[in-house]
Amino acid sequence: MKSILITNVLLYKERKDVLIEGNTIKSVEPAGSIPEQGIDKVIDGSRKAIIPGFVNAHAHSAMTLFRGVGEDVPLDQWLRERIWPYEAKLDEEMVYWGARLACIEMIRTGTTTFNDMYWHLNGTKRAAEEMGMRSVQSFTWLDHFQDDVIDNNKKLLKEAHKASAGWSSLTTFAVSPHAIYTVAEKSYRYINSYARDNGLMVHTHLAETRSEMDQAERDFGMSPTEYLNKLGLMSSNLVAAHSLWLSSDDIKILGDNGVNTVHNPNSNLKLASGYKFKYNELRDAGANVCLGTDGCASSNNLDMIDSMKTAALLQKVWRNDPGAIPLKELMNVASLNGAKALHLNAGKIEPGYLADVALVDMAKPSFVPNHYFLANLVYAANGECIDTVICDGRIIMENQQIPGQEEIYQKVQEVADKVVDYKKRKKK
Ligand SMILES: [Zn+2]
Repeated sequence: MKSILITNVLLYKERKDVLIEGNTIKSVEPAGSIPEQGIDKVIDGSRKAIIPGFVNAHAHSAMTLFRGVGEDVPLDQWLRERIWPYEAKLDEEMVYWGARLACIEMIRTGTTTFNDMYWHLNGTKRAAEEMGMRSVQSFTWLDHFQDDVIDNNKKLLKEAHKASAGWSSLTTFAVSPHAIYTVAEKSYRYINSYARDNGLMVHTHLAETRSEMDQAERDFGMSPTEYLNKLGLMSSNLVAAHSLWLSSDDIKILGDNGVNTVHNPNSNLKLASGYKFKYNELRDAGANVCLGTDGCASSNNLDMIDSMKTAALLQKVWRNDPGAIPLKELMNVASLNGAKALHLNAGKIEPGYLADVALVDMAKPSFVPNHYFLANLVYAANGECIDTVICDGRIIMENQQIPGQEEIYQKVQEVADKVVDYKKRKKK
């Protein structure tokens, strides 16, 4: 069993030695108390801090290929006119390269686990495993209420689920109906019973925009949350991305059922979907609130520290309360709560937890002086402060170096140029 010892590293306020054995944190002791003899790898933590790896609870990672396309339009137009036509051109190899870039970006900014929903999931799964990241993989179930497409999705689900039996322990299979405005009621019912029978997590978009809410009222006579509750989807096995437009009844449903809700503040702001995420209400009602970046076409980066900052600033301003989302809670929202949503024993630097951790380079202006580490991390720094990342007890980035990153940048540019053809677009 491989061992890693990180010596004299800052854990919030105290200097510690952190010993990792295999894929688990074995012990956390006062600095200088764990001997270095017999340890496979010793990391000097004297200029570093240790934090749990972030859990990006809602992503479409290969959308790195679309970073910067479809700017300045609302969600509906963005999807129909920009994103879906490009996505129709994708194949597994293209997704693989887009996802490799996403993994580089996530690792470089301290994320160790991501919950993905996308096309050609084998491409993303292969990229994540090669880069050493933990992930939940699902394909986007989108049927536009057409029976032949529903049948095709059913087939795809069974095939993908079967194939997932051969996946590594880093990767979990889930099922992802896109949203209530693109997925038929009978599909949601089918997915729900399939997921329950097979112990799978369900990952969907919920209550993202005002127009989704209006449409649900018009078509179903109820809110999006009430509609999915009626279909039996609400449980602690559901990850509901966005969960932004909620009534107090909706919040009660999400809370009573212990649903995992994912705040995606940068994406919500940029698509002008809304900003009054009901963090306190959801938390107090019993929902598990997590944090995500969403895809790079709407949030433009996969930096969880950036998302934490936006989430905190937004809560403070719309509630007119500078005490909204205290930093310690915010850290849990970005790590521990996400791990809980994905049924992982991660998100804390404590013995027995998975060795999914990031080391922060403290030799940067943002960390001087260091009156309050978390305040520096969230409000002064950004994801580029991350120096070293360990996932499942393996070092996947050290001193900001990830093997093969230059080749990946070059390859992704080639693939992205093939999918998004600017010359053609300009002629139109
Ligand atoms: Zn999304």
